[in-house]
Amino acid sequence: MNSCAVDGCDKHVKAKRLCAMHHQRLRRHGDPMFSKYRMVKKACQKNGCEEPVLAKGLCRKHYYFQRRTGQEALVTGTQPHSSS
Ligand SMILES: [Zn+2]
Ligand SMILES: [Zn+2]
Repeated sequence: MNSCAVDGCDKHVKAKRLCAMHHQRLRRHGDPMFSKYRMVKKACQKNGCEEPVLAKGLCRKHYYFQRRTGQEALVTGTQPHSSS
């Protein structure tokens, strides 16, 4: 039986144990499940933050920080020492 190696996909294998569609995704994105990942999992827009999105493209931490301070979340740890 030659069916696609991807779970839930029973199309005929074209190459590398994947059907034509999944083989193309593998070639294009390096991952046959590419689009599924993108639909299921959304990550925070903040650079380097991979927490799942809560609202407005931000994770819980960054979303509440922004609401609380009314501004963009700054890089944690950097506090401008301004004494005038
Ligand atoms: Zn497939
Ligand atoms: Zn975040």
